[in-house]
Amino acid sequence: MEIPKFLIQRYQFWKKNTFKDYKNIYDLASKTSQKPIAMIITCCDSRILENSIFDGGVGDYFIHRNIANIVPPKNKKEQNIQTLSAIEYALKVLKIPNLIILGHSNCGGVEYSYKTLIDKKNSNNFEFINKWLSSLDSSYNKIPKDLPENEKITFFEQENIKQSIKNLCEYDFINKLINENKLNVIGLWYQINSGLIKILNKQNSFIDLD
Ligand SMILES: [Zn+2]
Repeated sequence: MEIPKFLIQRYQFWKKNTFKDYKNIYDLASKTSQKPIAMIITCCDSRILENSIFDGGVGDYFIHRNIANIVPPKNKKEQNIQTLSAIEYALKVLKIPNLIILGHSNCGGVEYSYKTLIDKKNSNNFEFINKWLSSLDSSYNKIPKDLPENEKITFFEQENIKQSIKNLCEYDFINKLINENKLNVIGLWYQINSGLIKILNKQNSFIDLD
């Protein structure tokens, strides 16, 4: 096994610069337990820099990533264990008061699901991906047939965020926290090329976050 050069170089740069500048903060963080201000569930996509977008420092955000930022429904026992264990720890142990679902434009997971469902057949032998993305079926079915073709995937991406929030409410311990006003659930959709963020409002529509 060979360590790639870029890894060593970037690590050395970080240690000599960023780490040095924030040494006291890292030191303090190691002596106290973490107390994140929000949990962020987002996509594995390498273009989503949630700590950069929301100016995160050491200990600010508790992050969980999966393909297409999905919170699987309660009845999908095989799919939900990893995401829900992260949420369980965030809410029961860390008592994080904000849970953000951060979806995004150009999502390869959502696009793959869209193409697969439109063809009604799947020639790819992606054993795990196909199973994971089956949680998107119900969001796909809500895409209006008369929507212009170029808006369908954006709609699908945003519907997936809404559905994930609905799925969160199926879990009793999460629903209880929401009803007791101890947990604020926030749906966000991020557009990669423009930096625009849209937030899901109380009327269940996405509006620009200014
Ligand atoms: Zn994605």
